[in-house]
Amino acid sequence: MEAPGVTRAVIIGVGSELLTPERLDTNSLFLSRALNELGVEVRYKVVVGDDSEDLSRALRAAMSHAPIIMVTGGLGPTDDDITRATIASVFESPLVEHATVSASIRSQFESRGLRMPTINRRQALIPQGAVVLPNANGTAPGMWIEQSGVVCVALPGPPRELERMFDESVRARLVSLRSGEVGYGVYRRVLRVSGRTESHVEEAVYPVYSRWRRAPVPIATSILASLGQIELHLSTRCRTADEAARVLDGATTELAGVLGIDLVSTDGARLEDVVGELLLQRGRRVAVAESCTGGLITSRLTDVPGSSAYVHAGWVVYSNDAKVALLGVDPAAITEHGAVSEAVATQLATGARDRAGVDYGLGVTGIAGPDGGSADRPVGTVYAALAGPGQLVHVRRLSLPGERERVKFQASQAALDLLRRTLLR
Ligand code: AMP
Ligand code: MG
Repeated sequence: MEAPGVTRAVIIGVGSELLTPERLDTNSLFLSRALNELGVEVRYKVVVGDDSEDLSRALRAAMSHAPIIMVTGGLGPTDDDITRATIASVFESPLVEHATVSASIRSQFESRGLRMPTINRRQALIPQGAVVLPNANGTAPGMWIEQSGVVCVALPGPPRELERMFDESVRARLVSLRSGEVGYGVYRRVLRVSGRTESHVEEAVYPVYSRWRRAPVPIATSILASLGQIELHLSTRCRTADEAARVLDGATTELAGVLGIDLVSTDGARLEDVVGELLLQRGRRVAVAESCTGGLITSRLTDVPGSSAYVHAGWVVYSNDAKVALLGVDPAAITEHGAVSEAVATQLATGARDRAGVDYGLGVTGIAGPDGGSADRPVGTVYAALAGPGQLVHVRRLSLPGERERVKFQASQAALDLLRRTLLR
């Protein structure tokens, strides 16, 4: 069901390179955000190669689905740039040379002391009746075509050209297109959860969010599992940002009641941001001794601007010798329990805390794989320890799934989360 005042759009990305592993369609992310802010909901997006038939099919499907179609890419001067001609053919408007556009492209070349290649005249070919959208950052102009209740906007592929053109020429047109309607916007909130699987989160929050679908102001919820954490995405359509904030605040409070300390953030903040904020608030400092994470924990902590206020030091102690020499781990503990053990993780954490002379020490040791596993300590076995003020020590044994990089990231996640929970208690 459609809320009043909300309209629909389809985004079509054009470019064969976007169908390879080399290039990602990021323009649609920019456009989705910009459209959402105007109360336009993106129903779906597609990527097609530089193929006129595929683009025609995508355009026809979009026309029967949504009143706004945003096309990006394929406006260049080369033979593989098929967007202009395809739109002209689907909208049955012949291409005509636009004198102002060709003069402007020519002068752009001349100002750089260059002759305009003949092929650039193609970029001045515009479907009859289309509005030309000037390109302040390049040669290819965009176009805006309105026909039988559908608006089709074609924008250049390079993100800096597209973004500027959208800001300067498209946003205002979309607003006036919709001026007869009540201005609704789509508002979103991202919540991060740690320490529960996707299914456990679903089990806990379904009874809450399923009611929101039928609320006077409905909220759509999606649950996304990413590495080492679960995200809850809430979105609602409201007339004003204040109304949306009220609705989403209420929803967030309900979820917080169900999720408790497992709720990491309600404003999209990352775990390292939250840990940093807590350390800052409490005036505490941390040091880190890392084996299997190879510096990742310290790296994530220092990704946060201002982290010099609470990150004191980090050691990467990969070999047993380094663990002993730099952090004071007892060689007997390594011989008796192994380098991947509760005892060694604990001594790394206390060693980091004491040698740095700070409040908290984190120590991590584990087997990232693919080799080095054994029956009682398979690949993915990680010990994360936290040493706090006084005698406080927490250790966790983790069995992390996945290959090397995933094990490392999840281990860093577990260590940072251990610190977060301790700071909150
Ligand atoms: P085009 O307008 O098709 O000539 O695109 C020129 C360049 O813009 C391409 O080589 C890409 O680098 C970039 N580009 C095209 N489409 C996209 C997109 N959807 N997202 C991000 N970059 C794009
Ligand atoms: Mg292209």
